[in-house]
Amino acid sequence: MSKAVLFSDITIVSPHDDAPVSILEHGYCVVIDKIIEYAGVSKEEAEEVLASYPDAEKEVYDGHNKILCPTFANAHAHTPMSIFRNIADDKSLQDWLFGEIIPREDKMIAEDFYYGNLLTLAEMIESGTGCAANMYDGQIMISKGAIESGFRIQQTTMGKSCTDGKWSVDRKNVDDLIGFIRESGSELVKPSLLVHSIYLYPEDFYQPLSDLAKEYDIPVSVHISETITENENCLKSYGCSPVQKLDSYGLLTDTTVAAHCVHLSDEDRKILAERKVWIAHNPSSNMKLASGFADVQAMQKAGMRLCLGSDGAASNNNQDMFMEMRLASFMAKGKTLDPTVLKAEEVFTMATRNGYLACGFDECGIIKKGMRADIQIIDYDCPQMWPLGNPLSALVYSCGPDCVESVMIDGMFVLRNHELTTIDIEKVKAETKAIMQRLK
Ligand SMILES: [Zn+2]
Repeated sequence: MSKAVLFSDITIVSPHDDAPVSILEHGYCVVIDKIIEYAGVSKEEAEEVLASYPDAEKEVYDGHNKILCPTFANAHAHTPMSIFRNIADDKSLQDWLFGEIIPREDKMIAEDFYYGNLLTLAEMIESGTGCAANMYDGQIMISKGAIESGFRIQQTTMGKSCTDGKWSVDRKNVDDLIGFIRESGSELVKPSLLVHSIYLYPEDFYQPLSDLAKEYDIPVSVHISETITENENCLKSYGCSPVQKLDSYGLLTDTTVAAHCVHLSDEDRKILAERKVWIAHNPSSNMKLASGFADVQAMQKAGMRLCLGSDGAASNNNQDMFMEMRLASFMAKGKTLDPTVLKAEEVFTMATRNGYLACGFDECGIIKKGMRADIQIIDYDCPQMWPLGNPLSALVYSCGPDCVESVMIDGMFVLRNHELTTIDIEKVKAETKAIMQRLK
């Protein structure tokens, strides 16, 4: 039997591909199974749509003092890293990564990836996120957890192995993930190829990775110019910037998601704009690891495509996209001394529609007929958001995870009245605590 949900008398805020962000007060939204079949201000039209599914199991969601908007798509995350939360802080990226994180990661077993991922997905869902580009090993355990949780994920496949310090392409690894996705029958998981950065592999290994991505026609997920040290070492080794070196292998395309991009030259920005690379801006992580302030205004002027990410919980230390939106906007204003830079509308679109496009879920991130029902409901009946004023400003500048009342992904409520419906959070908390103690 079909399921029908009518969100009634609710404020609808949505980005669009060819128009400014729209705000509909006293709006109606009808979801039939996985699809939005109506979004507008006519109660009659909404009820007509509902009536055209006479056999559907129907429900009305009262929208009084509520906002309906797309869920967030977090374009750069490392979901299992929640197990390393709050244990290695106030260190440089190099000391943090090579001294604290990688030695622990070397000891991880399959269930660590599974439960660490679930903990992050629970946090993401509770804070209005419905999709993530996840860069991490443990591809099957993470994909399994995402499907069980009803969560969209673009999951990296390693596509490589390292024996005695020698890297080689590993097709079986890619086949395993693609095969798992196909057999699951789920549309929630899409693969991408992990190309960690220009500093992790030997020079002769980048072209085989690029060839592998093309052979399987999968996107590339990469960190670029996160720190000045990365740029200096690249210049020393290769005589050019990370962007230029990666581009020379054909690794930068219109499906590539490049995280950070903090230190770019004009030439780098021109290349990234021309290749239509998706840039995952990570304001919290870049500040916490003292990587620097990405020049978002220069990126916009260069015509680059921008979205937003949290990075892992070990370097943030949470997955709150409301905080990322606010910080992105505030940092851009503070850096340029111009309060008109990175307006609420722009940063909201980065966190929603652009994130979904970057993750390869083109049918999500806009509230309109025909799109997938990936929706969050915000309760603004709280001191933090009252009086509402401009709903878009409220979402970006006032709102926080506590205001997220419900989350629907692909037509299914995964959070209902602040309660997770697909994740046993008490079990996940107990398991991740034990894992953290084991990996200490
Ligand atoms: Zn990262």
